[in-house]
Amino acid sequence: MAEASHAVALTGAGHSTPSGIPDFRSPGSGLWSQVDPEEVASIQAFHRDPEAWYAWYHKRGTMFLNAKPNPAHEALAELEEMGRLKAVITQNIDNLHQKAGSKRVIELHGNTREAVCLNCGDVIPAQLLWEGYVQERKAPRCEKCSGMMKPNVILFGEMLPEEAPNAAWEEAQLCDLMLIAGTSLEVTPAAHLPLIARRSGAKLVIVNFQPTRADSYTEVVIHEDVAEVLPEIAEICRQKK
Ligand SMILES: [Zn+2]
Repeated sequence: MAEASHAVALTGAGHSTPSGIPDFRSPGSGLWSQVDPEEVASIQAFHRDPEAWYAWYHKRGTMFLNAKPNPAHEALAELEEMGRLKAVITQNIDNLHQKAGSKRVIELHGNTREAVCLNCGDVIPAQLLWEGYVQERKAPRCEKCSGMMKPNVILFGEMLPEEAPNAAWEEAQLCDLMLIAGTSLEVTPAAHLPLIARRSGAKLVIVNFQPTRADSYTEVVIHEDVAEVLPEIAEICRQKK
């Protein structure tokens, strides 16, 4: 990290579990247990019954708004501040990198801090959406055109917008070091990024509790807690300044 000239980070659900946000792919996690996330968190379920969808989702939406960054988020923000990190590419939708102070964050799956009108495309802060929902208990409508409002996250069954994956792809090609933290790399497009970085000559560092698909071609693999390891990396970089 200290020697890299263009380091980028790639983060996923494991980066936010120390902040109390369960990884829905881990069995038994409270957030999604008893339901099939690919069914309930899908655009089809949203269109089929918006009222039911909002009744199910709104607690999660407010949880994301209230969540706090952990030392792993803070370490990445600090590395960027020191000039050691050029970008964070994340699969997370929880806004915690920005809350910790990261400036350049590429969000592959959208975010929960905004809501978007599916008719006119107007974007509002999610805070307003949830305040309105708690008062009226009705699926929120756009104030401008009464179109249906949806949290600005990518649901299952929705196309990824091109902008974020393209930016991530570019960073993967540009970087000379990719720090992969808190992701098992099971979901595309994130799963492809380490390979692109590797082919472009970058070194890889993985910090993740579980083994990942990229372990076999990665220089440094640390199966430990991101909230402990990333602050240590930031500390070493600070000393080498
Ligand atoms: Zn609208």
